[in-house]
Amino acid sequence: MAQINSHYLKLKSGYLFPEIGRRVSEFAQKNPAARLIRLGIGDVTRPLPDAVVKAGKAAFDELSRAETFRGYGPEKGYEFLRRAIAENDFKPRGVVVDPEEIFISDASKCDTANMQELFDQNCRVAIPDPVYPVYVDTNVMAGRTGSADGQGRYEGLHYLSSGPESGFLPQIPRERFDIVYLCFPNNPTGVVATKDELKRWVDYARANEAVIFFDAAYEAYITDEHIPHSIFEIEGASECAVEFRSFSKTAGFTGTRCAFTVVPRALMCRNSRGEKVALHALWHRRQSTKFNGVSYPVQRAAEACYSDEGKKEIRELIAYYMENAKFIHQTLSKMGFAVYGAINAPYIWLKTPHDTDSWGFFNELLHKAHVVGTPGAGFGACGEGYLRLSSFGSRADIAEAMERIRQIYDI
Ligand SMILES: *Cc1c(COP(=O)(O)O)cnc(C)c1O
Repeated sequence: MAQINSHYLKLKSGYLFPEIGRRVSEFAQKNPAARLIRLGIGDVTRPLPDAVVKAGKAAFDELSRAETFRGYGPEKGYEFLRRAIAENDFKPRGVVVDPEEIFISDASKCDTANMQELFDQNCRVAIPDPVYPVYVDTNVMAGRTGSADGQGRYEGLHYLSSGPESGFLPQIPRERFDIVYLCFPNNPTGVVATKDELKRWVDYARANEAVIFFDAAYEAYITDEHIPHSIFEIEGASECAVEFRSFSKTAGFTGTRCAFTVVPRALMCRNSRGEKVALHALWHRRQSTKFNGVSYPVQRAAEACYSDEGKKEIRELIAYYMENAKFIHQTLSKMGFAVYGAINAPYIWLKTPHDTDSWGFFNELLHKAHVVGTPGAGFGACGEGYLRLSSFGSRADIAEAMERIRQIYDI
């Protein structure tokens, strides 16, 4: 029998969302009359913008005719889309990104997962806690860690612990790390970093020759005009950061699949002899070997996000979810819960009442209010004692969920 990659066996078995799914379906089976309201998994619910659908359909029509048929596209993505991104996502914020520095992909999940494989096994990695679990798990798969301890923390990774005392902002470490993951607006806490805070990370990275993996999947939800949308708004970041963006949460593409990663040409790392190597060339090499591009209709659909009609529809989409977020935040705060996020992000991060643990509160909400949240402990040890609610549901469902919670927990 073939021996498998033993690093995979270090992964904690019950990954968060399957475990939630298991508990929810068990409950639903025993309580067929209960109407569940799901505010758990971070998936959008509103339909795609019309402009996006029209563009995608028109592109399929092009593919149906011999004269306009297209086969494989460029591995990096079509220039029309890379240009639209540079012009609309970066230029208005004073950031110069060359379309050649943009790589279109089918997902930010894959890009945030794959970027680490360009780096040496012995690189020292720092990851916020709590955060999107993909960063940790992919470093485990790559063999950069030992096994997990009782709290689920892996030996060999450095956790940037954060809690209420820092407003859930990870603090700059004193030691040197080679790779630092950051996610702002943060999933799961919904907190954002100011320009000064991001500048301190960029200064740290430059002083320590570290690379920042900056996940900006939720940048479109930023409502505060002073909060940076891109790490490249900070001077010097193009020498030390890559940025991941996705159309998933921005434009409802979770089922359509399109994202992109910016790898600046100025970003240099070192080979084993200490000579400079451009990460841009290596990421290009990786993508053209392991990835064959996003479908043409999906890239046309993504391009339509930047048309006037597309922009307007996306603004409305995000405003809808952010109204929900505001409503949840206000209702829970009024009830006496300690609540974070929800202002520049579609997530509400709340302290469990009476020091219940994350899974205990998850169970209570499920059984008493028939509301599904996400236990904070699934996002890292520092998430214990917290629960994440998402604002991606319908207005009516969210109003009902809040009313049910109010009846149980007016604390
Ligand atoms: C949803 C999400 C992504 C990625 O989404 P894709 O659908 O894979 O593009 C990336 N990062 C975070 C933090 C997310 O929550």
